[in-house]
Amino acid sequence: MTETASPARRAHQAAKRYIYAWGAGQAEGDATMRDLLGGKGAGLAEMTSAGLPVPPGFTITTEACNDYFDAGEQLPDGLWEDVLEAVREVERETGKGFGDPADPLLVSVRSGAKFSMPGMMDTVLNLGLNEATLHGLIDLTGNERFGWDAYRRFVQMFGRIVLGVDGARFDHAFDAIKHARGAALDTDLDAGDLRDAAAAFREIVRADTGREFPEDPYEQLDLAIKAVFASWFGKRARDYREYNRIAHDLGTAVNIVTMVFGNMGDDSGTGVAFTRDPNTGARILFGEYLTNAQGEDVVAGIRTPRKIAEMGDVMPAVYGEFERIAERLERHYRDMQDLEFTIERGRLYMLQTRSGKRTAAAAVRIAADMVDEGIITKLEALARIEPAHVDQLLRDQYDPAALRVATRVAKGLNASPGAAVGRAVFSADDAVAWVGRGEKVVLVRIETSPDDFHGMAVAQGILTARGGATSHAAVVARQIGKPCVAGCAELLVDYATKTARSTDSGGSFAEGDWISLDGSTGEVFAGSVPTVSARYEDQHDLQTVLGWADEVRRMQVWTNADKPEEAALARSYGAQGIGLCRTEHMFREGERLDIVRDAILVAFEATRAKERRAAGEALDADETAVVARFDAAMAKLEVLQQGDFEGIFRAMDGLPVVIRLIDPPLHEFLPSHEELLEQVVRLRTLGTPEADPEYAAARTLLAAVARLREQNPMLGLRGCRLGLMIPDFVKVQTRAILNAQIAVKRAGGDPRAEIMIPLVGHVNELRVTRRLLEAEAKAVEAAAGVTVDYKFGTMIEIPRACWVADEIAQYAEFFSFGTNDLTQMTFGYSRDDAEGGFLLKYVEDGILPENPFQTLDDVIVAEMALAVEKGRGARPGLKVGICGEHGGDPASIAKCERIGLDYVSCSPFRVPVARLAAAQAALVSAAERDR
Ligand code: PEP
Ligand code: MG
Repeated sequence: MTETASPARRAHQAAKRYIYAWGAGQAEGDATMRDLLGGKGAGLAEMTSAGLPVPPGFTITTEACNDYFDAGEQLPDGLWEDVLEAVREVERETGKGFGDPADPLLVSVRSGAKFSMPGMMDTVLNLGLNEATLHGLIDLTGNERFGWDAYRRFVQMFGRIVLGVDGARFDHAFDAIKHARGAALDTDLDAGDLRDAAAAFREIVRADTGREFPEDPYEQLDLAIKAVFASWFGKRARDYREYNRIAHDLGTAVNIVTMVFGNMGDDSGTGVAFTRDPNTGARILFGEYLTNAQGEDVVAGIRTPRKIAEMGDVMPAVYGEFERIAERLERHYRDMQDLEFTIERGRLYMLQTRSGKRTAAAAVRIAADMVDEGIITKLEALARIEPAHVDQLLRDQYDPAALRVATRVAKGLNASPGAAVGRAVFSADDAVAWVGRGEKVVLVRIETSPDDFHGMAVAQGILTARGGATSHAAVVARQIGKPCVAGCAELLVDYATKTARSTDSGGSFAEGDWISLDGSTGEVFAGSVPTVSARYEDQHDLQTVLGWADEVRRMQVWTNADKPEEAALARSYGAQGIGLCRTEHMFREGERLDIVRDAILVAFEATRAKERRAAGEALDADETAVVARFDAAMAKLEVLQQGDFEGIFRAMDGLPVVIRLIDPPLHEFLPSHEELLEQVVRLRTLGTPEADPEYAAARTLLAAVARLREQNPMLGLRGCRLGLMIPDFVKVQTRAILNAQIAVKRAGGDPRAEIMIPLVGHVNELRVTRRLLEAEAKAVEAAAGVTVDYKFGTMIEIPRACWVADEIAQYAEFFSFGTNDLTQMTFGYSRDDAEGGFLLKYVEDGILPENPFQTLDDVIVAEMALAVEKGRGARPGLKVGICGEHGGDPASIAKCERIGLDYVSCSPFRVPVARLAAAQAALVSAAERDR
């Protein structure tokens, strides 16, 4: 592709240069200017310079849009004069005149922001038409039907978008005319019918707006430019930006492009195509086209388009040219392209090129293939895949056995893959309302429009009766990763009764009924079909790409796992260690809970008695019994825990396993105080005798639970404080860990334990715990005559610990940031309550930029950086990781890279995501260092 000319120094009357034009093989802008020209404008300029057939035109910059709003919705001084000059240039270029009945220049006025926002903003076609230019157009083309069709479309579009008339008013009038003429399709109407439609539309405009439809092309242009600017702040555009985290202050450019017509007969047409299949990533031209149609017919799904490959049979020469251009554009941009084109009487025009939206599967396959084809490097491939893509690939699919017996209601196009199960709702607002009540929904529409975005965003999946694989529903669904079945033509959707019925199967469903969509096959099933987990081992492209990620990332990826099966799964996903094994999770299952309760209820009494015994005092019979009961319970726990640890060590053979000693407040293991109180009061009210065994047991338990009750348990007796108050918790768990290591080692394994103490805030807590633990460990090793490899470290999850991390590091061989608690304690927000309460409202209202329990807040990161610096200052090479939930969040992973953590640890399912995110973080950091 040729180099672009350096932007001409265009004279301008406005204070800034707001206009960049293209035409006759030359362009003032280029692909690097997306900020200013938007994606569409930059693409049109680049394609023109490359010698591709692009109709001449010009871009009004995003800066003009922002200045327009800053000035209270006034065009900046001089901009209009600059627009007029640019129009004159297009007139010279095309030999046509804007508003000239003899040879009218018609233009489209198209939005185009830096980031593609498909269908979220407005575009007006055929602008420049009025009674006079229409007749000129008819005389020139000799095609009266075409002329009236173009005109009625213009009045309809301009009326709806620029003059704010309800679009349904035009649709009803048009349907009435079709009905009166017995026409099934728009193409069945003749010139006279279309003239009647135009007259009816103008009447609607007059009735609705109280003014005549504007005849002056320059007034049309002025109003259309302002309407496109305004669409930047339209509701659907704002919703879309919020969902995709696109800044609201970027503004949209406006592209004024000479019209070319795909509706000038059977040698004309229009279409959209991707250079690769956006669903699977396969290397084939994928798309749709319509003969004798304008662009909006394809996108809006008004007529069902034909597959792009069929164009090869109907117009072989044009198709060949299109294939060559597609290949060239893909090589030039080094990415899969999404192309729009129009054929006017056998001549091909390119109207848009941009990087195509794609599913997760396609993103990974295209990246892997393009590396193989030598188009991009491995590093570029990594940068192109979003962590969310990896997440989607590990999403659930339907259980094949359940699918075989499921009742299929209908089949449409497989527009966006994945399984979506939910209750049918028939409008976007209903989707939002139902989801607000905690329901899962599938949004069912005849077709979607950008106004439905808020409903699509909350639905599990989307089902439409009309529209192809490039319809609005399909494009948006793929982008936001929702399964979608589109163009399900057999489905009669009735908004009034909120029902849908298949004309083929006879099956039907109504609002609230469960349905299951398969976006990979296009099938729709009745009821809720069970799903199964996606299989990582079958995803070879993903494994290849993650292999490349492993080559470039600096941080390791570990996992939070409490059971051998979880550990094995995480290891198969590439986990390089366990960063957090929460031992207390093992306490909660089955018979174990009873044993733990038994120990807890006498723990304090038994501990005091043991201390007295150690000081040489004699114990009475009651004390001896309490100690025996406590020791018996703890011994049972020790055996059970040792078994668990052996399983985990075997699953993670040769890799580090961080085992955290008991952490939560003890009441979490006991029956609820309220329920016990209720039971005691009930029995008392019934006059139950004091000696009744149930009543006596309930009273004893209530008294014990009441003794352990705390006002703020999260800030109370938990973490290392438990082990300091009841040393047997430390001793028993240490014995279980070391004996498990010894057993696995004797069997030929390589178990590596890292014992971690939670919730340390003062160095003395760690010092005393370490002394206790090491004495016990030595005793175990001596008894077995075997030494094992274990490390001793701590969590950093209390702000004070960050400040004294240098002191703490003297007793800790590693740190692991517990950012759940660190966030809770730094913000002073209860992690158990805040997210269900004020916190999400805070985020919604912009009081907080995001939920700090999801993405690390920068102040927390600063605390972590302080702890890393102090810790490594005192103990060079100190190993530091993170095991809070943030360890699986890509944005937080990037922050961990910046402060030099050694690893992130996250739940097994997020391990693949974290591998990619860690690689991307490393690449960004390297680029920052180079700068
Ligand atoms: C943390 O606080 O971040 C942590 C990992 O520990 P837990 O969530 O178990 O308190
Ligand atoms: Mg914690």
